[in-house]
Amino acid sequence: MRAVDIIEKTRNHQELSEAELRFFLSGYLDKTIPEYQMSAWLMAVYFQGLSSANLMHLVQIMVDSGDRLDLSSLPGIKVDKHSTGGVGDKTSLVVGPLVAACGVTIAKMSGRGLGHTGGTIDKLESIPGYRSEISSDEFLSILRKHRVAIVGQSPNLVPLDKDLYGLRDVTATVPSIPLIAASIMSKKLASGADKIVLDVKVGNGSFMEDVDQARLLAKTMVDIGQAFGKTTIAVLTDMSQPLGEAVGNQLEVQEAIDTLQGKGPQDFTELCTEAAIHLLEAAGVSSPQQAIEEAIISGRAYQTFVEFIEAQGGSMSDFEQLPTVPVKYVITATSSGVVTSFKTKDVGRAAMLLGAGRATKQDTIDPLVGIKVKVSIGDSVQPGDVLFEVYAQKEQDEVTQILKESITLGRAATPPQLIIDVIR
Ligand code: URA
Repeated sequence: MRAVDIIEKTRNHQELSEAELRFFLSGYLDKTIPEYQMSAWLMAVYFQGLSSANLMHLVQIMVDSGDRLDLSSLPGIKVDKHSTGGVGDKTSLVVGPLVAACGVTIAKMSGRGLGHTGGTIDKLESIPGYRSEISSDEFLSILRKHRVAIVGQSPNLVPLDKDLYGLRDVTATVPSIPLIAASIMSKKLASGADKIVLDVKVGNGSFMEDVDQARLLAKTMVDIGQAFGKTTIAVLTDMSQPLGEAVGNQLEVQEAIDTLQGKGPQDFTELCTEAAIHLLEAAGVSSPQQAIEEAIISGRAYQTFVEFIEAQGGSMSDFEQLPTVPVKYVITATSSGVVTSFKTKDVGRAAMLLGAGRATKQDTIDPLVGIKVKVSIGDSVQPGDVLFEVYAQKEQDEVTQILKESITLGRAATPPQLIIDVIR
């Protein structure tokens, strides 16, 4: 077999055999196929796509490239959720303990943030002592006891994805539906859950701005899940404005806690409830809405959060005593009007510039800094009304400027529909 023939066939939109794909991809992983040939193949996939059969082969080869988590020793149906990422997206922090408090085990491997989006692990690590790197034995033991644990992705889970993602990043081949779908679903399948709920974000704060493209991505991932015998549901949700109020690690954890106690922002609460309902339904829970309400009102949802955080080394009393930032200031409206749109990515970028996120993988995170977004699309504002609260180590003109320019006021706007579609 020759790598060049595989690239040529893909470029000409011809079907590959599983053996050809395995030869090419495992050759890349063991470095017998050079990066320039893999780059050419990725670009061929970017333009030509992959047949459904080849996509399933790609996913299988990616899953086979590393370890798989075996959750079979845990009782009951195990669920997992994944979000394609956005600004202020702290959903896993709420949905994990909420679902667990309703009796369903949720085993979650999460990522760190890069660029305008924050990562679940960075948020959790703003809780002093929280350990995101634990052995799989400890992960299973916490799951057995508390039904929820959230850890960083183990280093040998789908190593092929790590190598391919790094190369896609520098060859302009990230925004390819089959490559994104294979990347996300290979990690979900290797993580071992029986049922998967995907939150596919749409809008200018996500990496899919076009609803039809997002729907196609969602459908492709659902098809992969079903082909591998896992019930998979995708919810298309709006990301044309920040989710909830808080953007920044400690602020987001606090907002998640408020939400678990029934005091969260309305949009974020709605999204968490929607995701939790699908997860509970998939696990066979009858009356999931009622189960969720009971878990919140009784305090069990928040209690489960505290228990799993403490099992992973986090201290909630130390979290409550975290220092406040030295500089807090507000950005106010200078004219009247209705909020018609956000430059959502810019809000995420402003938080990153404050220190809440990373511009490069090496950057360190400041857990305390961030932004609270005080208005939503459709709100009327008057001069002097607060648009943003900024929590900073020092006042930064660039951040202030970005935030001022991130909101457009007009005459009228309808609030966007949060749940756009559900794809099964
Ligand atoms: N998230 C992933 O895990 N992979 C992609 O390719 C894109 C987003």
